[in-house]
Amino acid sequence: MTVVGNRPQFVKAAAVSWRLRARAEEVLVHTGQHYDEELSQVFFSELGLPAPEHRLDLGGGSNTAQTARMLEALEGLLASERPDLVLVYGDTNSTLAGALAAAQAGIRVAHVEAGMRSFDRAMPEELNRVLTDHASTLLLCPSEPAAENLRREAVAGRIEVVGDVMVDVARLVGPRVEVERQGHLLVTAHRAGNVDDPARLARLVELLTGLPGEVLFPLHPRTRARLEAAGLLDALARKVEILPPLGYLEFTALLRGATAVLTDSGGVQKEAYLAGVPCVTLRDTTEWTETVEAGWNTLVDLDPVAAQAALQRPAPAERPPLYGDGRAGERVVDALLSLVSGP
Ligand code: UDP
Repeated sequence: MTVVGNRPQFVKAAAVSWRLRARAEEVLVHTGQHYDEELSQVFFSELGLPAPEHRLDLGGGSNTAQTARMLEALEGLLASERPDLVLVYGDTNSTLAGALAAAQAGIRVAHVEAGMRSFDRAMPEELNRVLTDHASTLLLCPSEPAAENLRREAVAGRIEVVGDVMVDVARLVGPRVEVERQGHLLVTAHRAGNVDDPARLARLVELLTGLPGEVLFPLHPRTRARLEAAGLLDALARKVEILPPLGYLEFTALLRGATAVLTDSGGVQKEAYLAGVPCVTLRDTTEWTETVEAGWNTLVDLDPVAAQAALQRPAPAERPPLYGDGRAGERVVDALLSLVSGP
């Protein structure tokens, strides 16, 4: 049973699901954490994800309340489906709920993107990562430093470095991407730490409205709601081209055509690296530290001066393959099947 619930998980599952279905039976559960067409359905159709066998409707509410509702619903599904194992991705409420519900039912858990750490426990995602890893039987890491984090924490499960499934997706879908616009800055922002606090949100708007040139910002619904509530959307829209949340193909086209990306997303930092686009990260920590060490990513938090300085930095000459060879999905499926058939 695979449990997914939001945008980045649909992207990651697109590297694994069809491969898994070729060799085993998969029951896909969509928790409904992201339910809008723009954050959900478009990814299923564009990336060839199978329709979920179970669609729950558990979005909204606080992290705690949402996770609790998911735990309860998943307990029932696990009892009726009785899967050999539960597969979860990343660091969301759906990840933690899937892992914990399975572990409590005595069902093995495999976690894709295990071992990522920002070492910032104030981020809800960091709690989800740590707790999920410690409930997992099989920890599938995108990189060696992620595996090292898990060894340091002495997790109970088996650790395997499989590479990053988002590399697979970028390669699979890449040829269908048509770059039309070029020379712009591309922005994404939706982390609670940046948009839920009105003072931080105002700083974000100040930073973005001070950027030079053409700035494109596909707006996450959470960010739109916070901007509207704070009365900041109009000021932002006067300087920045606001777009709806985009499908993967359209977003990737804008990413590939960008001179740089500014983001607080985890996945987008990594996709920028893969596309050879310099990244300015609107946070003071990152779990994707290798991209910073390679000189392609700069952490500026919400400091406008630091952001402008980062945009002036020339891109490094080298871009080593940090996240594997695009065959992570295959290794994930091999690892799952050997766990299920093993002793
Ligand atoms: N993405 C997209 N359309 C957008 C913004 C992002 O398709 O308008 C994709 C992006 O390419 C990446 C994923 O969504 O694959 C990242 O999701 P998000 O930033 O929501 O989550 P995070 O990676 O921060 O967990």
